[in-house]
Amino acid sequence: MKITDVKATTVTVPLEAPLRHANGCHWGRFVRTIVEVETDEGITGLGEMGGGGESAEAVFRAMKTYLVGRDPARIEEMRFLIANPTASLYNNRTQILAALEFACLDILGQNWGVPVSEILGGRLQERVPFASYLFFRYPHPKNGAGEVRTIEQLVAHARELKERYGFTSHKLKGGVFRPEYELECYRAIAAELNGDRFRFDPNAVWSTEQAIWFGQAIEDLRNDYLEDPVFGLAGMRRTREKVRMPLATNTVVVSFEQLAANVLETAVDVILLDTTFWGGIRQCVKAAGVCETFGLGVAVHSSGELGIQLATMLHLGAVIPNLSFAADAHYHHLVDDIIEGGKFNYENGAIKVPTAPGLGVKLNREKLNEYGELYKRLGSYPYDQDPLRPGWTPLVPNNRWGDPADSRTPEVPF
Ligand SMILES: [Mg+2]
Repeated sequence: MKITDVKATTVTVPLEAPLRHANGCHWGRFVRTIVEVETDEGITGLGEMGGGGESAEAVFRAMKTYLVGRDPARIEEMRFLIANPTASLYNNRTQILAALEFACLDILGQNWGVPVSEILGGRLQERVPFASYLFFRYPHPKNGAGEVRTIEQLVAHARELKERYGFTSHKLKGGVFRPEYELECYRAIAAELNGDRFRFDPNAVWSTEQAIWFGQAIEDLRNDYLEDPVFGLAGMRRTREKVRMPLATNTVVVSFEQLAANVLETAVDVILLDTTFWGGIRQCVKAAGVCETFGLGVAVHSSGELGIQLATMLHLGAVIPNLSFAADAHYHHLVDDIIEGGKFNYENGAIKVPTAPGLGVKLNREKLNEYGELYKRLGSYPYDQDPLRPGWTPLVPNNRWGDPADSRTPEVPF
């Protein structure tokens, strides 16, 4: 079988409300680029990448000259073709490689009549459990709904997500307001959902001293882990010496070099594997093997996915023996998807791993066109800016916090 074409379409899919994070905001929607790799046997594989627009579409078009005529089964060779480690000093294509790897695995699975999880070693579980992903949210720019700013709103939101989807593990995305306020928020959720498990992620914007203070202040709770309280392996290592709970990261261990450094001088206990950041599902499976060898924990990270990427996370979660935590997904904040059959369903806080050949998802062309048109109308948004704080530049460590008393609604094009 040979690859005959590579196509890319950028889409934007609405969220229930704008999601605030330490470095900015998702302005009420996600922008994703959907990749289609076509073959001479009529099988098309699907991939997905964050962000996009003309530049992402052009990058994937440029990959055609590398890939046309190649066998999609040569995935390990493709890693060097697209993202050779020294060539990557000039053109970092890790995320491009990931989207192409998803598509090639999808092609192979369809060709061989097996789900991707079987190519990766076989499913160890049929369902992957997810944590609720709690964000501080601005009100929806059109209808004013969905705000999460006060402690009361946050607790009600957590309760609603638990009732609607069945989550028993809860992640709060912080780093938006000063840590004292966010500590109150986190403890309030833990009190409301007593008996469940919790994790906190301020996206590495605290000083080491703040990280230690916060970590010690939550030691009595049922924490899965404290995620990226501070930026850098050294700061994580200093925090880990003083805080009695696992530390997790999706920022300072996202490559094998960094994983090796963390094994030699451990700073992080739990590695959050992201099928995009690591350059594909197979790279994540390999990294999980290293973690298994050295007794490190793993979980599945979410970088803001539609159904194609969610499928990669499900196949990954299904085949890792040392997955000891619920996975993360932004997915439940989305109002729609571009796959056939609509959004994946949660059952008791988990999502069923697709069993159809390949990734197990198909494009809904109508939805792809609809959200492709929406992208053309709205364009991209600055993920690392806050619509209500123009000119704001968060530092690391940060001290330029949002104001929990500020109840304005952002005027975001929609
Ligand atoms: Mg994180």
